Amino acid sequence: MKQLDLTLLHAPSVYDFRKESILYGPVSDLVPSTPVFEMYPIGFTTIAEYLERNGFRCRIVNLAVRMLEDKHYDVEKTIANLDSAIFGIDLHWLPHAHGSIEISKIVKRIHPDRPVLFGGISSTYYHAELIQYPSVDFVMRGDSTELPMLNLAQYIRSGGNPHPSADSVEAKELERIPNLVWKDNAGTSHINPITYSPDSLDGILLDYSGVVKSVVRYRDLASYIPFRAWTRYPITAALTVRGCSYNCVTCGGGCGVFRNIHNRQKPAFRNPEDLANDIRRIGSFSKGPVMVLGDIRQPGEEYADRFLKAISGYKKPLYFELFSAWPREFFQKLAKAIPEFVIEISMESHDEKVRRAFGRPYSNEEIENSIDYAIEAGCQRLDLFFMVGIKEQTYESVMESVEYSRKLLQKYSKDGVHHVVPFISPMAPFLDPGSRAFEDPEKHGFKLFAKTLEEHRQRLLEPSWKYVLNYETKWMNRDQIVAATYEAGRRMNAMKAEYGVITTEKAAATEARIDQAVQLIAEIDDLMKIKDEVVRKEKILELKHRVHASNESTVCDKRELETPMKGLKISLFGAAGMVISDWFVEFKRALSQGK
Ligand code: SF4
Repeated sequence: MKQLDLTLLHAPSVYDFRKESILYGPVSDLVPSTPVFEMYPIGFTTIAEYLERNGFRCRIVNLAVRMLEDKHYDVEKTIANLDSAIFGIDLHWLPHAHGSIEISKIVKRIHPDRPVLFGGISSTYYHAELIQYPSVDFVMRGDSTELPMLNLAQYIRSGGNPHPSADSVEAKELERIPNLVWKDNAGTSHINPITYSPDSLDGILLDYSGVVKSVVRYRDLASYIPFRAWTRYPITAALTVRGCSYNCVTCGGGCGVFRNIHNRQKPAFRNPEDLANDIRRIGSFSKGPVMVLGDIRQPGEEYADRFLKAISGYKKPLYFELFSAWPREFFQKLAKAIPEFVIEISMESHDEKVRRAFGRPYSNEEIENSIDYAIEAGCQRLDLFFMVGIKEQTYESVMESVEYSRKLLQKYSKDGVHHVVPFISPMAPFLDPGSRAFEDPEKHGFKLFAKTLEEHRQRLLEPSWKYVLNYETKWMNRDQIVAATYEAGRRMNAMKAEYGVITTEKAAATEARIDQAVQLIAEIDDLMKIKDEVVRKEKILELKHRVHASNESTVCDKRELETPMKGLKISLFGAAGMVISDWFVEFKRALSQGK
């Protein structure tokens, strides 16, 4: 096979999680991934597609999914069989701090002369530390790196030295690549400024068509699967924005963080017609729901109206995030355009004071009005999310949020139909680097246990999520955060069974998992008192099988978040049609350009 220009590798959170005994806790109960966080960032697809479109060969290998699917999957053999000019590894979400660096070491050992590049939000934040690792050659900073990645691929393909001497012509070339962090031949790091931060998302494809084409080209669906359960439940994301207008206190995706870390002065919104087109193209090969990331009303009423006009008549389920209260008229317009929609609301707490401290701008009354309007318009379901461990929140306050959920269940359940489904989970494992709370913990009532990348990498190997947590608050210490999470999960689970949202069998299974997890937390706490490190590790390893059995869907069954689907989930016919029609368009373009 011809050499690849770029191979994008997605690591599991901890390498090798299959051998470790770590009680991850309910860190991924409310996301499609398992606690290994096997989902790769959407930027993988946009970068790979952009480079392919410009004549470079790229592929994605989701090592995390492959390792989850096959306990004998040999990562080293896979990497040895890859012939790539550059190996790219994402460190987007900080929980990959361990796995990503371990994978980079393996790549460096097997392919010592091939540069290893890191990218993503956490890589950008920790670029200065990351470039010091011997296994890291480049870090690409910023939230939009398609063009700088193309520049780097061109440099490497033209024979450019990844580590030129500082005063060479090649060094001047590397200096011209925006956002790049690199090392010269003396090992000195050079941090190019972030000058590439485009105001729009035009020119990139966010519809996974590049992935579909690569699956056809490399005949390797297994390595491209975004997360383990995807073939059973192919939920896909459509991105409205890079950046955000809000600045929630613990979020690494707020406008303040994007300004300080990514040099993004304002959010870059996807053109609303392009967004609708992304969704329709996803719908041509997937029967699963599409999660529209970012409130469509965030850029304003006109944007939302243009989007609804463009998506009108779309028949598959769409999930929408709501960052502020929506008026009745808007829900009516939404329902007219799209018959099947689900609304996701992050309430964080029932207590408006706590919610405001988090950064959410809406009152309970406004949210309940929005729920009324949504149901009145025909909304399929509203998922309400509460969080444990946030600013100004006590143990008692968490329990009151569960009681508030009861009130909503009572109000919004009728004749066996439950319009509102509440969920609760901890802010775990990490407080986001770059967020206001991370940068100034004392001011916001937080205490941090880890600050550097290396400290986070080490924490990920701790035997339970209580010890992995990188924070506690003035209002709840780590023990209380853990206790509140399990107790709230237990009460929420029982309540859902009481109201018939879930079956009693399902509730009993969740209850048993919570019991098991609480028991394991206590056992691990006891083992942590053993002074002899070798003995302690051995004893913790003995818990491995029980720990692994408790690591998924702890405080709720994540399938509660799913929309029921029947029949074939992926349409190969639709995927092939999209590939053929794109190739035809490319062919026509090439002909017209006389190529
Ligand atoms: S948590 Fe707040 S700042 Fe972060 S993405 Fe959501 S709305 Fe924006």
